[in-house]
Amino acid sequence: MHLETRAIHTARRPDHSSGAIAPAIQLSTTFERQPDGAFASGYSYTRTSNPNRTALESTLQVLEGGQSAFAFASGSAATLAVLQTLQPGDHVLLPQSVYHGTLAICRTILAQWGLQYSQCDQTNLAAVQAAWQPNTRLLWLETPSNPLLQISDIAVLADLASHRRALCLVDNTWATPIWQQPLALGAHLVLHATTKYMGGHSDVLGGAVIIGSTALDIDPDVESKLQNIQTLGGSVPSPFDCWLVGRGLTTLAVRVRAQTASALQVAEFLAQHPAIDAVHYPGLTTHPQHALAVRQMQGGFGAMLSILLRAGAQAAWQLTSHVQLFTRATSLGGVESLIEHRASIEGPHSTTPQNLLRLSIGLEHPIDLIADLTQALAQP
Ligand SMILES: *Cc1c(COP(=O)(O)O)cnc(C)c1O
Repeated sequence: MHLETRAIHTARRPDHSSGAIAPAIQLSTTFERQPDGAFASGYSYTRTSNPNRTALESTLQVLEGGQSAFAFASGSAATLAVLQTLQPGDHVLLPQSVYHGTLAICRTILAQWGLQYSQCDQTNLAAVQAAWQPNTRLLWLETPSNPLLQISDIAVLADLASHRRALCLVDNTWATPIWQQPLALGAHLVLHATTKYMGGHSDVLGGAVIIGSTALDIDPDVESKLQNIQTLGGSVPSPFDCWLVGRGLTTLAVRVRAQTASALQVAEFLAQHPAIDAVHYPGLTTHPQHALAVRQMQGGFGAMLSILLRAGAQAAWQLTSHVQLFTRATSLGGVESLIEHRASIEGPHSTTPQNLLRLSIGLEHPIDLIADLTQALAQP
């Protein structure tokens, strides 16, 4: 079956007791034991497992083609959980262009635990090989990357990691499994901020890690370690959060396809506008890794793009103040289009250009979005 069908039918069945089509939300924190001590339903305590979380995890596992999935309270909680599976003294190799929070977790939380990390240009195999250290245990990829939309070669880099007995993770938040299947390309782990496209409506935080079967060849304990961090550490999503993300998944494919089609139109419009110095969007033939994106993404390039304003940072700020349909806000993946001055939200460690704006294209009509950008760019 196709992803659209699986997203709807993996974990959603009419409830036998009521006939309800929509899944119930099981708020109970605890579950009754049988006289012999057994848990008839398999559930004992909601931190350990909950029916809504099970439903979400089974759907995520199927959508990414993994062998198991673990849901977390946010994308950042999922990130922290993966990094906590490593040992003090281990090294993580991150991309130069990466979600700033991932880097902040390494810098501010895990460095004091003795976890080492560094960044390199992951668009370049030789640069990754050069940055590799004897203690590199995790190659962290983010493609397309935030906020520069760089593309790295998942198959080639996952192969490198496998040969060096390290795990290769792909943060697949921006591409979604609709456009990119990292496990099928050889990656061992997939990470999602389900807050974004999976939830899809800017109203729920969540994260997930999906484990591919080959991960166990590299680290046989990775699944049990992650499960322990999830259930003992307890940064789990609430039943309602799981329900919301699960509902979002049922419409993921149509939303992402429509948003992606609009993003390409917006990118093409901006690419020919004299006020714009550069448009970072892997769907444009001018993107430096466009051919790779065509090869490894499945017919679409996502709905995120970033632009550089020719007249500098001031012009970027002005554009955000003149748009009427785009909302000035961080985050992405919702139905409403957002525009953001990225460097100022990333803070003092940011290397993002000051004239860069990041756009999340929503589900408005693309002609309206282009009209809004046209009028905003025309203002003095
Ligand atoms: C938003 C985001 C995260 C973090 O997710 P939260 O749910 O905000 O913690 C991680 N990676 C990427 C690529 C993101 O866009």
